[in-house]
Amino acid sequence: MKQHDLDTLKKILNERRQELMSDAVGTMHGMGMVEEDSRESFPDPTDRASLEGNRNLTLRIRDRERKLITKIDEALGRIGDGTYGICEDCGSAIGVERLKARPVTTLCIQCKSEQEAAERRSKFA
Ligand SMILES: [Zn+2]
Repeated sequence: MKQHDLDTLKKILNERRQELMSDAVGTMHGMGMVEEDSRESFPDPTDRASLEGNRNLTLRIRDRERKLITKIDEALGRIGDGTYGICEDCGSAIGVERLKARPVTTLCIQCKSEQEAAERRSKFA
């Protein structure tokens, strides 16, 4: 991979990480929409069920953020040790465009499709 592309991807990853970190500290920055929507669907704030629902939603978002931050850290680590952008399954280079769209990916498009196909098969088996 070209150094220029690597720098771009590193920048994308760092920016994404920063966004997630500011969300995770509890400001729910960028997630304001979720809160607004919940309030509108449950106008009564004392409704216990809706409060539970909101809390579960928040926890779920946090859990997803935490996992994504871990993935971003791993990706940044791979940039550091020079293994970034190499498919961990078949060892071939992952396309730069794919990485820009999904910078934490560890699989090339071909292996990813095969993995998804296998997941679908096991789900319906
Ligand atoms: Zn592959």
